[in-house]
Amino acid sequence: MIKKLAITGGTHGNELIGVYLVKKWKEQPDLLIRSNFETLCLHMNNKAIKEVRRYVDHDLNRAFNTESLNDASLETYEAKLAKELNKFLGPKGSDNPNVDFIVDLHTTTANMGLSIVVSNMSDITWRAIAYLCQHEPALHVYRWQGDEEDAFVDSIAPHGFAIEVGAVPQGVLRADLFLQTEALIYRLLDFFEKENAGYSMNLPNSVEIYDHEMLMDYPRDQNGEITAMVHPQRQDKDYALIETGSPLFLTFDDKTITYEGEPLYALFINEAAYYEKGFAMCLAKKRAIFIAL
Ligand SMILES: [Zn+2]
Repeated sequence: MIKKLAITGGTHGNELIGVYLVKKWKEQPDLLIRSNFETLCLHMNNKAIKEVRRYVDHDLNRAFNTESLNDASLETYEAKLAKELNKFLGPKGSDNPNVDFIVDLHTTTANMGLSIVVSNMSDITWRAIAYLCQHEPALHVYRWQGDEEDAFVDSIAPHGFAIEVGAVPQGVLRADLFLQTEALIYRLLDFFEKENAGYSMNLPNSVEIYDHEMLMDYPRDQNGEITAMVHPQRQDKDYALIETGSPLFLTFDDKTITYEGEPLYALFINEAAYYEKGFAMCLAKKRAIFIAL
């Protein structure tokens, strides 16, 4: 039973679809009302939103690991903010958290279409994903388990995931992706209303996912400067298969660098925010996750 759900936007202050959707719902709260649970929506990083930048001191969406949340000596803006948000929405790991489910809204400069990024493996999270995939055939699911501990925003609630939509530049709104994200949220609310009421939904017994395998950095020189760009044949080909010989990068003197390894799917290709993190794309395996029916 989901009693309270939170929709969070502006975790990254330059990802405007989540920022403006939360603004819309604050002005028209009736749009989120369902019969058997409560939904709240909030802006996460208000200072970054005001300045239309990803963060002030560091990435808020990596600030929710237990050690940082318990470390009173951390003085950065996002470390303090993470503790406040954890108190308000969590606390993380609690048996009696303030919200049961968090859906965190993001955009990406990569051509990811409508995507879910999930680390949580709870039954209710995956039943919700199965329902959304059943109703939105274009939806892709990327399971990220690349960190020692899940430090994403949604990790402070017992259940949840993030939505990523793209391609959209940082600091830009796109109506088509805004509407797709909004429709996906209403579907999610419909799911919880049916689930809470014990309504039979005929969910599929499995969901096809892209399971995180590795990060691929840009080629770099000894000073850490990138020496190549994402190859024109790789650009915008998110969720396409790459195999040995597939072009990955183009050097500034026109040499093609190809992939070597087992066949994998590339995603988050040329995401602007990941230049500083040191990767050009994520590589994933396609597999099925079975749903607890
Ligand atoms: Zn983001």
